[in-house]
Amino acid sequence: MGKICERCKYEISIAYILRQKSMEKVICPNCGRTLIATMISKILMISIFLMFFLLFLLVPVDIINKLIIETIWVMLCYSVLPAFIYEYIEDNKDETG
Ligand SMILES: [Zn+2]
Repeated sequence: MGKICERCKYEISIAYILRQKSMEKVICPNCGRTLIATMISKILMISIFLMFFLLFLLVPVDIINKLIIETIWVMLCYSVLPAFIYEYIEDNKDETG
């Protein structure tokens, strides 16, 4: 699954996105444009997060294991998963001409 810069068609790697401070806003490594995650991909990310969060609540394990699973899931969704889920578009607010 690739993330393509709209402006220069450069394919941005997941490893590059993972190194960013904020995965919602990345700078194209090729042309320097600011790219932001699309609303649709953010909604998708939240949906996946909530779906599995609820699913894990139903897993028949004791409360401690459930807490561990949920904690790992929250951490994954915060630090890794957006790099795979997010799609990027050019940030128009950054337009300088
Ligand atoms: Zn670019």
